[in-house]
Amino acid sequence: MRPLLAGMTQAEIEELLSSWGEPRYRARQVWEWIHRHLASDWEEMTNLPRQLRERFAAETELYSLAVVERRAASDGTTKYLFRLQDGETVESVWIPAGNRGTVCVSTQVGCALGCRFCATALSGLRRNLRAAEIVDQVRWISHDLRRRASNVVFMGMGEPLANFVETRKALAILHEPTGLNIGWRHITISTSGLVPAIRRLAAEGLPLTLAVSLHAADNKTRTWLMPINRHYPLEELLPACREWVERVGRRVTFEYVLIDGVNDSISDARRLSRLISGMLAHVNLIPLNPIPEIGWRASSPAKQQAFARVLEDSGIPVTLRQERGAEIEAACGQLRRRRLLEVTAVEV
Ligand code: SF4
Repeated sequence: MRPLLAGMTQAEIEELLSSWGEPRYRARQVWEWIHRHLASDWEEMTNLPRQLRERFAAETELYSLAVVERRAASDGTTKYLFRLQDGETVESVWIPAGNRGTVCVSTQVGCALGCRFCATALSGLRRNLRAAEIVDQVRWISHDLRRRASNVVFMGMGEPLANFVETRKALAILHEPTGLNIGWRHITISTSGLVPAIRRLAAEGLPLTLAVSLHAADNKTRTWLMPINRHYPLEELLPACREWVERVGRRVTFEYVLIDGVNDSISDARRLSRLISGMLAHVNLIPLNPIPEIGWRASSPAKQQAFARVLEDSGIPVTLRQERGAEIEAACGQLRRRRLLEVTAVEV
């Protein structure tokens, strides 16, 4: 496979240039074309000698993916389905909000963790993404929309912390001030609760946002919804989250998808508030994006409000998120899965 440039650090591009007998200072120029100017063609890189551009074009890849499908919702939320070089597909979502533009990236093709409410889980894990394939989702969308991303959330397909090394490398590249320049505080890593990886990330002290998918406040319900809870139950997960807060000095965000009749009762809300009381934390309540294959629905607006009120009354900061992008199947894995089903149907 040819080197994927978007996943190389400046030092690695220097190494490549030096192995070609080229001056190392060109690495900075190449890097800026890739990450600052979001170049999509070597012809744009007019401060590089033609011969060098031709060699890069012949021996490396400027983009590791290409778009297969793009769907925009009326609120501007736009979903992309990308094809990777080996034919696998992943999804990303652009979420505009005023001056901000957030890209939600995938980190794996599929996922092994089997959460019941997740369309991605239905496909199982195919493979980890490489750092370039993560970074290129942001580059491609920013270039396509002519709008730079201000925020990146690792909440697409896959468990980012199960692909720790490539995710960590992508983080460094996305953050680099001479490139895409996404501030740490504008990056969110979402995890289903891989305790050793949360501790490993906490040890690095990066002041990004950690979002932990909780979705239930008792082990029985959580294990049923998220089988990973069998390995890392709440009594191990919560101390790891507290360690994160101590080491990084930032609050943890707990994600809680409200599913009608599953985890949205008043006693669920009370249990949740007891579980995280006294912790520097924030709760994001998310009405479930309906998934036709599973047949679950979001809680009613009245139940959502009542759940939020219990947390607020206990002094826990809470946000009740709007459901966005349901018309374009924005929940992770939905577009890819529909496409696979369509392709399969055609093939049959
Ligand atoms: S919700 Fe996230 S961790 Fe769970 S199966 Fe889906 S992609 Fe994997």
